[in-house]
Amino acid sequence: MKHMSPIESEHLQMIRESAKSFAEKHIRPHVMEWDEQQHFPKDLFHEMGKHGFLGVLVPNEYGGAGLGYQEYITVIEEIAKVCGSIGLSVAAHNSLCTGHMLLFGNEQQKQQYLPKLATGEWIGAWGLTEPNTGSDAIRMKCTAYLESDHWILNGTKTWITHGKSSDVAVVIARTGELLDSRGMTAFVVERGTPGFSAGKKENKLGMRASETTEMIFDQCKIPKHQVLGLVGDGFVQAMKVLDGGRISIAALALGIAKGAYQASVQYAQEREQFGQKIAQFQGIAFKLADMATKIEAAELLTRQAGKMKDQHLKMTKQAAMAKYYASEISVAVATDAVQIFGGYGYTKDFPVEKYYRDAKLCTIGEGTSEIQKLVISREALKE
Ligand SMILES: Cc1cc2nc3c(=O)[nH]c(=O)nc-3n(C[C@H](O)[C@H](O)[C@H](O)COP(=O)(O)OP(=O)(O)OC[C@H]3O[C@@H](n4cnc5c(N)ncnc54)[C@H](O)[C@@H]3O)c2cc1C
Repeated sequence: MKHMSPIESEHLQMIRESAKSFAEKHIRPHVMEWDEQQHFPKDLFHEMGKHGFLGVLVPNEYGGAGLGYQEYITVIEEIAKVCGSIGLSVAAHNSLCTGHMLLFGNEQQKQQYLPKLATGEWIGAWGLTEPNTGSDAIRMKCTAYLESDHWILNGTKTWITHGKSSDVAVVIARTGELLDSRGMTAFVVERGTPGFSAGKKENKLGMRASETTEMIFDQCKIPKHQVLGLVGDGFVQAMKVLDGGRISIAALALGIAKGAYQASVQYAQEREQFGQKIAQFQGIAFKLADMATKIEAAELLTRQAGKMKDQHLKMTKQAAMAKYYASEISVAVATDAVQIFGGYGYTKDFPVEKYYRDAKLCTIGEGTSEIQKLVISREALKE
């Protein structure tokens, strides 16, 4: 399976080849070492920036690659085929921190931050989630109050991708009443700002080379001009950022599923039992058929959401459907892959146990599958 799209333009094939050869050369040789050691390879990010993978959607004038969602999906997919962790980090950097600034930053903020983020000189983080407010982000406790020409930020954000290694973070904090969707504001916080520190690093099941830590704010003083967009718009902005982010998690899930599938096809044609290749058993061949069908369906949903996003159409429902379906089938495909490998699939000598661990994050991050179903049903009932 080279790629799943029925028709892929030469331009998209070129992007695919570029991401693929980068992943094979710079990521593949280190995958298990980084996973075992929970090592976030910061240097790799600087290198990826040079190749345009960290500012895929950022216009050329701000130092980005100036591409659209089809190219972005392809980049995430090819990286995730090799390593889900790096795929997750690239997705979070592009879609969340950089994506938020691209959508809601003013000209001065865009000029100041986007070139650094798009070229990988700086790594970005995005903080919405808190210890007691994940799915229910509107109840966030992290607060900011205005004191003369500064905002004072207090509270803890948890589960933040690049919470320690990032150079800059977009942080959403309460500036108004609890449960008021217009009572939260987005701030740009640079590393080194007094009162901003990293907390506990999570020891995770999968995605272990993608750094996940707390971000702690203790009387953190942020200049007024670091507000993104309007005061009070932070939550509404975050929901819009997540619409795009969900396409990137769908692409991440798709890449993991394709990696697991490709490994399974190869193994099933090599491994012999009862005097024949296991691919010749209908029980295995039908599993491969189910895996391939699920992957194609997920790709169609993901690319449809990407196309709508590129056309500036409202795609909240399509992005949630793509994220929900692609992440669930990614887990199913990776589970089947472990089964096809038998006992060998249960060891770290073969790649499928990692796909199995990494895939699960896709049903949780940027809104769980249950939350996607809430979004989909809410949107469907409006139609
Ligand atoms: C590796 C990793 C990286 C992450 N990176 C970031 C990041 O960079 N920035 C950031 O802000 N966050 C990040 N997150 C946080 C992530 O978005 C949250 O974990 C996710 O939104 C779920 O929140 P929670 O973990 O608090 O689960 P909870 O909200 O506590 O949910 C627990 C369970 O209850 C279910 N549930 C909750 N509400 C409902 C409902 N109304 N109906 C039905 N079921 C419901 C959920 O689906 C889930 O099964 C990351 C998480 C992980 C694991």
